[in-house]
Amino acid sequence: METQEVIAKGLAERIGISGSMLKHEPNNGDSIKIEQDMPSHKEALKIVIDALIHKDYGVIKSMDEIGAVGHRVVHAGEKFAYSVVINDEVMDALKECIDLAPLHNPPNILGIEACKELMPGVPMVGVFDTAFHQSMSPYAYIYALPYEYYIKYGVRRYGFHGTSHKYVAERAADILEKDIKELKIVTCHLGNGASITAVKDGKSIDTSMGFTPLEGLAMGTRCGDIDPAICGFLVEKEELNINEVGNILNKKSGVLGISGISSDFRDIEKAATEGNERASLALEVFAHKVKKYIGAYAAVMGGIDAIVFTAGLGENSSSMRENICKGLDFLGLKIDKEKNNTRGKEAIISTDDSTAKILLIPTNEELMIAKDTEELIK
Ligand code: ADP
Repeated sequence: METQEVIAKGLAERIGISGSMLKHEPNNGDSIKIEQDMPSHKEALKIVIDALIHKDYGVIKSMDEIGAVGHRVVHAGEKFAYSVVINDEVMDALKECIDLAPLHNPPNILGIEACKELMPGVPMVGVFDTAFHQSMSPYAYIYALPYEYYIKYGVRRYGFHGTSHKYVAERAADILEKDIKELKIVTCHLGNGASITAVKDGKSIDTSMGFTPLEGLAMGTRCGDIDPAICGFLVEKEELNINEVGNILNKKSGVLGISGISSDFRDIEKAATEGNERASLALEVFAHKVKKYIGAYAAVMGGIDAIVFTAGLGENSSSMRENICKGLDFLGLKIDKEKNNTRGKEAIISTDDSTAKILLIPTNEELMIAKDTEELIK
């Protein structure tokens, strides 16, 4: 952590199904693929550790060099506004949040349990996707629904991608050489999942995702904000049950649903340049929604000093950034076409006379998790 250098990264895929594989990328050699059965998360993590200490392609001598493990955990409900060292109480709290994130928290918990078993005595730290947004005021997180559902089930807005929004907001302040406490920043995390956050005084005061990551912007396959009455309407017209409607809203909507082509913005941008009208429409809808949120967040913060683009689309698509910023001069935001013609690296892409700054900052959730972990075990 002294140099904050990545010494290896990797990805274990297809855990529990056929064709499991670990991609191991050490910084001192070639990337390798290890094809080995991973019936559970425990075996997968065992293979990860074996790769890290391997005599040929490993990056550390032994497991003793692992001082702590940081875990990205999706949902901590209202329980944690900061990262924490994971003890039994924290594990119980995460289990209580399973209802809120049925797809994500169970594998997160399995990963933590597997690490605890494989590395007894090594501290585990939980870094939560929801934590950064716990600073939202009740007026930003309460839905206009019968209040009893909030009390009974915790139905409220939580927000996600918190680690990423926090990281890029802090980087923006560093790059602009300003105290984050004096800045009003809108952070746009635009990937397959997309969300946007209003960061004032270094705190999240509103964010576009809500009770689940389905709310807010249009995304790769998620619908984002829609009139909720559409659900009942589709149940009736298409003779669907509510789970099937949920599946459509999560997996078949977004830019995939509009374009009918792909959830991958690269495919859609290509089709649009080739004249496909629905592909163009999907991109227009996406940009329009991001623009609306930028305006809304300028309003809730009482101004705007900077906007930040990050994640797959935000970091790579100059045309999407340009379309989003078109017409935002009235907020003091002027994008510089030439400076915007860049990708994947930190840059200020607004014109010199733009009173509010536009930045491109690649997100680095792993670094944020590592930093929080280091700080907590010190
Ligand atoms: P997630 O972590 O939510 O899966 P990412 O942040 O990795 O998402 O972003 C993935 C998205 O970024 C994909 O939909 C992809 O189309 C888009 N993307 C990646 N590279 C480019 C590019 N060069 N141009 C346009 N879109 C891109």
